[in-house]
Amino acid sequence: MNREKDRPETSTCCYCGVGCGVEVRVDKNNTVSVIGDKHHPVNEGKLCSKGLNLQYTVNDRSDRLLYPQMRYHRSMPLERVSWDEALERTAAVFKAFIDQYGPNSVAFYASGQCLTEEYYVLNKLVKGFIGTNNIDTNSRLCMSSAVAAYKKTFGEDSVPICYDDIELADCLLVEGANPAWCHPILWRRVEAHKTRNPDVKIIVVDPRVTDSCSIADLHLQINPGTDMVLNYALGRLLIEQGRVDLDFLRSHVEGYDAYKERVMEQTLTQSAAICGISAADIELAAKFIGDSKAFLTMWTMGLNQSVIGVNKNLSLMSLNLITGMVGKPGSGPFSLTGQPNAMGGREVGGLANLLPAHRDLDNDEHRAELQRFWSGTTVSKVPGLTATEMFDALQDGRLKAIWILCTNPLTSMPNARLVEEGLAKAKFVVVQEISDKPQTLKYADVILPAAAWAEKEGTMTNSERRISHVRKFVDPPGEALPDADILCRFAQKMGYHGFVYSSAEDIYKEHVRSTVGTNISIDGLDYSVINSMKTVQWPFQKRRKKGTARLFEDKRFYTESGKAIIHSPPADFHSELPNKEYPLVLTTGRIRDQWHTMSKTGKVSKLSQHISEAYLEIHPVDADSLGIDDGCLVNVSSLRGSVRVKARVRASIKPGVVFLPMHWGEVFDSDLNRANNLTNNLVDPISKEPDFKYCAVRVERHIKA
Ligand code: SF4
Repeated sequence: MNREKDRPETSTCCYCGVGCGVEVRVDKNNTVSVIGDKHHPVNEGKLCSKGLNLQYTVNDRSDRLLYPQMRYHRSMPLERVSWDEALERTAAVFKAFIDQYGPNSVAFYASGQCLTEEYYVLNKLVKGFIGTNNIDTNSRLCMSSAVAAYKKTFGEDSVPICYDDIELADCLLVEGANPAWCHPILWRRVEAHKTRNPDVKIIVVDPRVTDSCSIADLHLQINPGTDMVLNYALGRLLIEQGRVDLDFLRSHVEGYDAYKERVMEQTLTQSAAICGISAADIELAAKFIGDSKAFLTMWTMGLNQSVIGVNKNLSLMSLNLITGMVGKPGSGPFSLTGQPNAMGGREVGGLANLLPAHRDLDNDEHRAELQRFWSGTTVSKVPGLTATEMFDALQDGRLKAIWILCTNPLTSMPNARLVEEGLAKAKFVVVQEISDKPQTLKYADVILPAAAWAEKEGTMTNSERRISHVRKFVDPPGEALPDADILCRFAQKMGYHGFVYSSAEDIYKEHVRSTVGTNISIDGLDYSVINSMKTVQWPFQKRRKKGTARLFEDKRFYTESGKAIIHSPPADFHSELPNKEYPLVLTTGRIRDQWHTMSKTGKVSKLSQHISEAYLEIHPVDADSLGIDDGCLVNVSSLRGSVRVKARVRASIKPGVVFLPMHWGEVFDSDLNRANNLTNNLVDPISKEPDFKYCAVRVERHIKA
């Protein structure tokens, strides 16, 4: 399979949900090099710092897992075994638990970095054959609030916009996101648009001054957790000033009357006080939105990762609905996806409450359709355990076995001690991984070595529903296998039929067939069609051989009535509030050059030149009152644990708020810099997405003993 290419072949960057195209060359030593794909519609040749250094993560194989390993007791060392031995034992243990305790006694925890084909096979295996919905992914930590809000508002989890809408918008409201660091190539399009069109208005809503603010006409530095109050205040002003689209609301929207009542509950002065910003700034934002002919809202984790994440999403989407700014060029709600294939996972039902092709778990006909399609067991209507619930269930013994693939929950999950305790109590842990670094491996009874990016083939879908081909260029090291192959081999060991595929494309074709007749149909697609069109946005119009750039241009939504629905829940906020003992609010997030838990970017020294270690960002006023100087070591503690990092004293954060990056903690360091030692385990009641952006902490200067 290794091949030296005179001409490069194309693939897709495996980091964020922007989905940039890359050109890949492999030399005679099997060394991979990567540059941006000039012909890719997303990035036109540009790459951010992570994408530019993609090859180093592939070429450095020093940390790679090379063969399956196994042990019969955690006190014993792991020993090399054959694939057959590892999978036969795993199948025997899973079967024993399923026979004795039922299918809900086992679970699979996967990742938004899995390829669509891998996601599809995993869902089929778990939901169609094992007979449980206990499959969740780290997309639960990222996008599940947006998924729930899209379903409530439009009837389906459908991001309506395309990236080209950026250049058509004349007002962009960016709330709870720092795309300049987290979605850099997309943000460059926003910057270029603003440079070409200075009259375009950009509003950034964030408790911190971030790089995204550098091109903003208005930065609303709200108190953490007050986004809904701000959005309702904007809604009230737009209504009072007659800057709503009444024709659109009458014909295409339900729920406007209740919304009007809701937003009138608070005066502008009250809202401004709660948000911690001036009334004049809210008025200016309402003016920018009201004057706009094409209004785009963009958001990500600041809204999603909250105990009221779904409601925050709904309140932002309502601004698009009351102004009639949906399904029009340059307009609409646009959730920025964190992971490269969180969207692909959503297409194949890759969360505990979803089914493939946007079918519903509580719809009898949908479940029956899948059962017929897979010829499997009965698809359960009981929602599976979500990410945090899985580790709770390991603690109390409801869950006996967990299979973790392509993710490091010990760093990424909230309240990390609970994850450690859950894994310690688990009767059986399978870890499917590329690297020997994650601490999750310490808890593994079986380790399965997986192929990495460039070593396997499949597809991914980016934030604008754009499907791209991900190609294989080199063989995986040692005995490592593509994730889909591992899952299919396990399914066969379990005695399930329907898991013999001749290629990744064979799986893709089955996935394509499963979408026929649904709103996300990609009937007619295969790899050659995708490649001939370069990329395709779903739904695919088979007869016209064309993707769909923008949804809802006909103003027909996927709800029963065909109308979009404005939801107007109260703007109550009920996270862990600061108190005397823990007086500051901690918010966590990403930095520019690292990705997730650093198992890939942490290998590239260049990427540490920007920021080389975890830190606590704190306002000078708070730092002064606590005797903290820039660069000194501080202890940060919450009810759950503590962290010791250096302070960065910066006026860019609001007084009373501190920020800690989420990347560090397990792979290369001790866990004393793990942000999730501190975060709470509250989740949104609907989306079950954790509250990473808000918890109460105390900060003290570290005194050496
Ligand atoms: Fe990769 Fe995202 Fe950077 Fe594009 S913006 S190169 S997809 S990390």
